[in-house]
Amino acid sequence: MAAQETVDHKYVYDFAEGNKDLKDLLGGKGANLAEMTNLGLPVPPGFTITTEACKAYLATGRQPDGLAEQIEAHLESLEREMGRKLGDPNDPLLVSVRSGAKFSMPGMMETVLNVGLNDRSVVGLSAQAGGNDRFAWDSYRRLIQMFGKTVCDVPGEEFEHAIDDAKRAKGTNNDLDLDADDLRGLVDAYKKIFAKHTGREFPQEPREQLDLAIRAVFDSWNAERAVVYRRQERIPADLGTAVNVVAMVFGNLGADSGTGVAFTRDPGSGAQGIYGDYLANAQGEDVVAGIRNTVPLQELERIDKKSYDELLGYMARLEEHYKDLCDIEFTIERGKLWMLQTRVGKRTAAAAFVIAGQLVDEGLIDLNEALHRVNGAQLAQLMFPRFQLDHEFEAVAKGIGASPGAAVGKVVFTSDRAVELAAEGEAVILVRRETNPDDLNGMIAAKGILTSRGGKTSHAAVVARGMGKTCVSGADELDVNVPAKKFTVGGHTVNEGDVVSIDGTTGKVYLGEVPVMPSEVVQYFEGELDAERTDDPLVRAVHRIMTHADAARRLRVRTNADTGADAARARRFGAEGIGLCRTEHMFLGERRELVERLILAATEAEREQALAALLPLQREDFVEIFREMDGLPVTVRLIDPPLHEFLPPLEQLAVNVAVAQERGEDVAKEEALLAAVRRMHEENPMLGLRGVRLGLVIPGLFAMQVRAIAEAAVTVVRAGGAACPEIMVPLVGAVQELETVRTEAEKIIAEVIGDSGVEVLIGTMIEVPRAALTAGQIAEAAQFFSFGTNDLTQMGWGFSRDDVEGAFFWRYLELGIFGISPFESIDRDGVGRLVRIAAEEGRAARPGLKLGVCGEHGGDPDSVHFFHEVGLDYVSCSPFRVPVARLEAGRAAVTTTGSDSR
Ligand code: PEP
Ligand code: MG
Repeated sequence: MAAQETVDHKYVYDFAEGNKDLKDLLGGKGANLAEMTNLGLPVPPGFTITTEACKAYLATGRQPDGLAEQIEAHLESLEREMGRKLGDPNDPLLVSVRSGAKFSMPGMMETVLNVGLNDRSVVGLSAQAGGNDRFAWDSYRRLIQMFGKTVCDVPGEEFEHAIDDAKRAKGTNNDLDLDADDLRGLVDAYKKIFAKHTGREFPQEPREQLDLAIRAVFDSWNAERAVVYRRQERIPADLGTAVNVVAMVFGNLGADSGTGVAFTRDPGSGAQGIYGDYLANAQGEDVVAGIRNTVPLQELERIDKKSYDELLGYMARLEEHYKDLCDIEFTIERGKLWMLQTRVGKRTAAAAFVIAGQLVDEGLIDLNEALHRVNGAQLAQLMFPRFQLDHEFEAVAKGIGASPGAAVGKVVFTSDRAVELAAEGEAVILVRRETNPDDLNGMIAAKGILTSRGGKTSHAAVVARGMGKTCVSGADELDVNVPAKKFTVGGHTVNEGDVVSIDGTTGKVYLGEVPVMPSEVVQYFEGELDAERTDDPLVRAVHRIMTHADAARRLRVRTNADTGADAARARRFGAEGIGLCRTEHMFLGERRELVERLILAATEAEREQALAALLPLQREDFVEIFREMDGLPVTVRLIDPPLHEFLPPLEQLAVNVAVAQERGEDVAKEEALLAAVRRMHEENPMLGLRGVRLGLVIPGLFAMQVRAIAEAAVTVVRAGGAACPEIMVPLVGAVQELETVRTEAEKIIAEVIGDSGVEVLIGTMIEVPRAALTAGQIAEAAQFFSFGTNDLTQMGWGFSRDDVEGAFFWRYLELGIFGISPFESIDRDGVGRLVRIAAEEGRAARPGLKLGVCGEHGGDPDSVHFFHEVGLDYVSCSPFRVPVARLEAGRAAVTTTGSDSR
């Protein structure tokens, strides 16, 4: 019976009952707390309420049946284990209530600490802490502040103002100077603020506090900032969060207490060593919020050697166990170390490669696993340029290189202004004292983030790294004045709109625009850096992993290139041929005039003359490309866009004609052009006279191109080179179209190649849905297919590819109709299905039919995995994407779990 099942459902797990593989159910934090508990590490006892409970609550607005009883039972056993009761007036147990989704969403959801404190138990807490009144009242004021803000939506600034007032009255700006009496007064002030905003007194009943806090964590899954973050990080909206209820341990009990964050390797560079921040006499949120400046973790050795050594031992143990970089949150309570959290740590793109290489060297993982630990998005990020610095540029400040890259832009001080200016196409740098989750939209819009407070683990740093965005944090020479929209540094004043440059690797900040230079990874791909000789660990790691990806992958990788220079670069980047050489650029520039002659030709003779003039120019283009590719396959696509695209726009011509007529000039040519433009005007040019239709309608056009290709190949071969041309017909929807073009082309080819030995293939793009659906017929006439997924998406969805992304995709993304533009990443279910059908039916009709893709999707990581699964022979993408496609093709071949290495 359904009701019975619901009652029996297990919604709460003790830490000892879980493990690291239960992330779906227990969230990342809960699963890893369970894992550490089972490894015997000192984790404060607690339990996890499952994501299923959260989902049930969010669906119905009330806690599912049985949850309250299960929480009660687990709380009782926690109380037994601790020998204390929640909120007991004499010897209280206090708990923290923490969110924890499957994927980490730093700072996005809620946490409430010190649950169980009230007017009576605060006294008991003081006794527990050896008569430390100050500590007890500080804990109580923290509870009211966090509870008020997160559970009851009391504006956080009100609490901030009250504590600022208390410090001012005391003549200090340090929280630690407030004594027990000051804090008792602050608790009164906080309670008044609470009552003013909520219309009720601060709840004194510990169980009520706990239940409300649990609900607040559930609700925070749907808070706006969490929704925005999930969209940005492509985290599914329906996962829900788990809630961890953990016995409190205190890092703010005095100088022998503290809290910190540790990384088992440097999450910025991947270097081995001890990295992290420590803050004495503080609670965890003080470190993560970047509110007070921390000391490097190494200092802990001096402060508390026993805890430091113990921590190092656990760090080694966790790395060994997880076989990866771990990040850790810990607290020391009066000399006793507690592990509050661990997870496989986020890292920069560079660190991901370096660490993967190190772990192979250390024998912890193999090369297949190393390949799985990195991804194409990270590689793409490493190919960004860096600053080119000479004596002209002196840094005005140095903060922490929190997320690498080189960002230049206009300074803005608020998230809203960042969004506004970015929408106008400006590059902006968001400057804040520290960021908080409300700044998320501005962080997404900005090119880079600069803060004057906070360490490597501050909100700004963690979120920016996750987004792959340049960030310098903790540049404390900066005096940031947000209301006045300016900051000052070393005698300079920088106002909103002034340009700064920030280096997320070194942490340096420059005034003005610093020029940028290519990354060392690009230099390596360009062949300018020898991976065997360099001592750059990143280049060595990239080389090693790329070599393995190349050995592992089944998909070939070609490039889209239509100039010799692009072809040459793509080859250096590892392209194994050209999958799409668009010929239309060859009709631009000074050649436009010949195209105009072709369009305006009144007689057959005039048209033939124009074509004859274009032929040698086209031939030269192809000779250059065939030479560069030196026998690798080159797919040349016959002209695709409507011819009127080569003529001036209608309005411009009409004005020219009118002005010239006014002046009494000879306007015969302009008039003829204007008439042609009017005649050729189309309401829907994307669905008009383009592609194969041009070849069928304009006599001699395709023939000229076919001749130029064949003659170029023969020229190269006769000069001792090699050429492997593949002629591709665009926009085919019916086999008859292709057959007509092919029959004519074959005659020309036979005539041109003679005994040169050149072999020319003829194939087609599959980019019209009808072609995909009749692929079996079309394969009879095609020696290869190349999927034009740009047009296939345009026509499959009926989305104009030139308009819709800017026009209304935001709404589709908001509604979750798709998580990412289908022009960016292949829509597997719809357009992908067309690809699958065409691949299967094409190969059924012509076994061994060569299949590739040359739409933009050929360089998109997730799409590469799809093309691997469908069994294509190659992907083709822009030169800069070639390394990304090689890497992802390798990953696709060694993993069955998709491209998600989050
Ligand atoms: C395509 O449609 O996917 C394609 C590669 O052709 P183009 O982008 O030139 O239309
Ligand atoms: Mg196309």
